[in-house]
Amino acid sequence: MSVEFVSASQAADAVACGAPLRLVDTFGRVARDLRVSLTDRCNLRCSYCMPPEGLDWLPTEDTLTDDEVVRLIRIGVDMLGIRQVRFTGGEPLLRRGLEGIINECSHLRTDEGSPLDLALTTNALGLAKRAQGLKDAGLNRVNISLDSLDPEHFAAITRRDRLGDVLEGIEAAARAGLSPIKVNALVLRGMNEADLPDLVDYCLDRGIELRVIEQMPIGPPDTWDRQNIMTADEILHIMGTRHTLTPAPREDPHSPAGRWIVDGDPTKRLGVIASVSDPFCSACDRTRLTSDGMVRSCLFSTEETSLRDLLRGGGDDAQIAARWADAMWAKPAAHGLNIDTFARASRTMSRIGG
Ligand code: SAM
Ligand code: SF4
Repeated sequence: MSVEFVSASQAADAVACGAPLRLVDTFGRVARDLRVSLTDRCNLRCSYCMPPEGLDWLPTEDTLTDDEVVRLIRIGVDMLGIRQVRFTGGEPLLRRGLEGIINECSHLRTDEGSPLDLALTTNALGLAKRAQGLKDAGLNRVNISLDSLDPEHFAAITRRDRLGDVLEGIEAAARAGLSPIKVNALVLRGMNEADLPDLVDYCLDRGIELRVIEQMPIGPPDTWDRQNIMTADEILHIMGTRHTLTPAPREDPHSPAGRWIVDGDPTKRLGVIASVSDPFCSACDRTRLTSDGMVRSCLFSTEETSLRDLLRGGGDDAQIAARWADAMWAKPAAHGLNIDTFARASRTMSRIGG
């Protein structure tokens, strides 16, 4: 028997009875997609994400160990119906134990009996050397962040002159057979919107899906201005400069990206993630774990729940699962970006895990 709708107190009862839980919220959404932040540190300083001087990094002792990360993921998969895990950060390639964590997770089986879908979101610095090892460890696919192919614009946005490393990382990911490869780009008005057509062609030439994300108010406070962000409509218009774009049928109801077919060829696609102008909260199936072991039900949560304290305090798997289910039960209907009472998230993007 599986329990689809549980209240906070019923979660503990369900675990006690041995009934499998699901991460359900009061609006009936079921979380299947776990985002795991492996570090809050990063080797780039993208202007929309981090201040130039970086942030006060979490002390090492506050960060989950590799074994703790794997244990929480196992609880999520074995007891809570998680089917997909994406490792992120900060920069997840800075985590030395990444390959080992992936390898442990590759042995887990979902409630449907299939292997976990294991994905990585990365800036690709160092990926050239590690792509094959990550593939061998069990990584399936990778999203790489790249905002411009113009070295000067890349360096201005990321505050580091590392475009060549990113491009080498993308080539290595393809050689290693990581698939699909997607490129995530963020467009800043007056900075890189004119670079978008070249980025579209670079991705199309390599069979990569480009997905452009509207900038969200989750970086340094002075870097977001609602009136000035590039909207999905504007982005789409520029992406279509050299190509004919037609809407693609929505295959995954939980995907945040609106997708378009390029020049009538269904194998060529690109996407726009309109988190601000057209939020996808009602279809959101994500649950998030920060590198210090906090569950967040939404990127924009102002509250979070510690699993690390319970885990380090001797909590058993069932207790941890029940606390996780409780935290997700309270997931808000929407992030509220477009209402007057919107409150900024209690952490910035790199500390949550994007
Ligand atoms: N460091 C890795 C990377 O850049 O891919 C993983 C973490 S990063 C926080 C994950 C994603 O968040 C990146 O694709 C980045 O572009 C996106 N991101 C960061 N700040 C953002 C913001 N203010 N609005 C929208 N997306 C943002
Ligand atoms: Fe680092 Fe990713 Fe944030 Fe850029 S977007 S500063 S690469 S965490």
